[in-house]
Amino acid sequence: MDNRRCLTGLIRDVPDWPTAGVVFKDITPLLADPAGFNAAVVELTRLAPAEVDVVVGMEARGFIFGAPVAMALGAGFVPVRKPGKLPREVVEQEFALEYGTDRLTMHADALQPGARVLIVDDILATGGTVAATAALVQALDAEVVGVAVLMELAFLGARQRLAEQGIDIDPVLV
Ligand code: AMP
Repeated sequence: MDNRRCLTGLIRDVPDWPTAGVVFKDITPLLADPAGFNAAVVELTRLAPAEVDVVVGMEARGFIFGAPVAMALGAGFVPVRKPGKLPREVVEQEFALEYGTDRLTMHADALQPGARVLIVDDILATGGTVAATAALVQALDAEVVGVAVLMELAFLGARQRLAEQGIDIDPVLV
């Protein structure tokens, strides 16, 4: 079986969670499957452009995939976290949720100016998380050279919207 079919079969749809009308993509069966987890990391790594210095992953599931992708690429890993979690000076970015706003932070000295950054996350939904993370990278004068996600919820149209802002996203699964 090819990697993509194997991965799709390991992601469970959970209707009406965490709220009515949302179909939650549960990746925990994939993580628990040695071949599936390995295939996900291999496919995400394959999406990386040449010469990535740093992988940036977002709390929490971006950590799970971002760290092994960074190791496979010989790159460093930088975490993007929710407010109040990082101990030193941070840069912060607000972004819109369906109702209200949220914020993401990154250490202010986490990236060298000009560093080539690959952003890695599990699911691309509205694209707010990726857009806010790209803004944090750019605030430190580093360059987003790619965005690799395991799955895009294509009906939300985030990939097209972000492409218009110059952020090109490659999903393993659509
Ligand atoms: P967004 O900012 O709307 O693109 O949301 C992306 C983040 O929220 C990712 O880090 C996902 O882990 C999580 N997420 C959003 N929607 C879903 C969903 N339907 N199933 C699983 N995770 C989701």
